[in-house]
Amino acid sequence: MYLDNSLPPAGVAVFYTVLTQGPVSRRHVARHLGLSMTMVAKVTRPLIDAGYLEELPDKERTGPGAGRPASPLAVRTHRERIAGIKVTVNELTGVTTDLTAQIREEERVPLPSCTVHEVIAGIGTLLDKLGGGITRLGLSVPGDVDRRAGLVRHAPMLGWHDVPLGDLVATITRLPSVSVENDVKALTASEHWFGVGVGATSLVLVTVGTGIGCGLILGGSPLGGAYGVAGELGHATVELGGKPCYCGGSGCLETIASTDAIVSAIRQQTGEAHLTLEQAVAHARSGDAAAREVFEKAANAVGVGISTVANLLGPEQIVVTGEGLAAARDLMEPAVRTAFATQTIGSAARARLTVRETSFPDWARGAAVIAIQDLITTSR
Ligand SMILES: [Zn+2]
Repeated sequence: MYLDNSLPPAGVAVFYTVLTQGPVSRRHVARHLGLSMTMVAKVTRPLIDAGYLEELPDKERTGPGAGRPASPLAVRTHRERIAGIKVTVNELTGVTTDLTAQIREEERVPLPSCTVHEVIAGIGTLLDKLGGGITRLGLSVPGDVDRRAGLVRHAPMLGWHDVPLGDLVATITRLPSVSVENDVKALTASEHWFGVGVGATSLVLVTVGTGIGCGLILGGSPLGGAYGVAGELGHATVELGGKPCYCGGSGCLETIASTDAIVSAIRQQTGEAHLTLEQAVAHARSGDAAAREVFEKAANAVGVGISTVANLLGPEQIVVTGEGLAAARDLMEPAVRTAFATQTIGSAARARLTVRETSFPDWARGAAVIAIQDLITTSR
């Protein structure tokens, strides 16, 4: 039996609390959520009956007169076997997780091309490799996604427009639920529910790679904006009168700090037309001052960008990650932190700034987290 559409808001809140903080006592849940013990008991019962929550043996009761038993609530983590798949231009990365997003298996499937047909076929192959018993699937895609409809509205890197990916994949896999989300938003959800952002009501995640992505959590919920484009930090202006950007503007963060911008600048300096990111990093590490400066300028721009977000929104937690940062962390992290500290005003600087590397399985885990969230919170 799956959760039906009838989980009330209090049930969602209790499930979320036990999932992210458990095992916890009912008393803690009630206090944390401002609910009565009666209400907690009422909404917990169907979750226990459906096999999602369980009562652990009471360890706190020591004898007569020791008070009511605490009977901590815990999630039955293996109640579902969730798959998460990250779609990129040339590869699919998949993981399976339990209900608390712990990764169990990892697999990859190369893509001969990124047509819708090839990607869907690849998803079928990848699910076969991950093994049977998968109950839910989350997909993350680089592009603009209508999560509620499972629709990829526009994914320029894949060349997709208005692809009903959720429905297409549900049809071939016969899974009861296929969730779809933008990849950066999925990674942000993962950090918020099961990563460094657990318990934070506001979180900003910035990815530095071929593009600059940004996911925003405010008031405990993802911020999409009226048109779904909130968080386009890559196109925030950090250099007035700077280089033209493909978006039509100029001086955007991406024109300085994307890996393409970094590589392009060092190609110009060195005259090496086919220089790779790894070679650019090697130049900077070997003491090439001009190459070092390119990385520092990029990192400074990232720091300025996140300080702008911090000054505007005052988040509790900021995470900076992505393959660009992973490749050149030693060259970039100090300047990111310095610029952030310099440009962030007053209490906004109290935001925790975490710089971390994210692997492809971590991205796929983000897709699984979307499926976990949809299990709990939506009425699809
Ligand atoms: Zn731009």
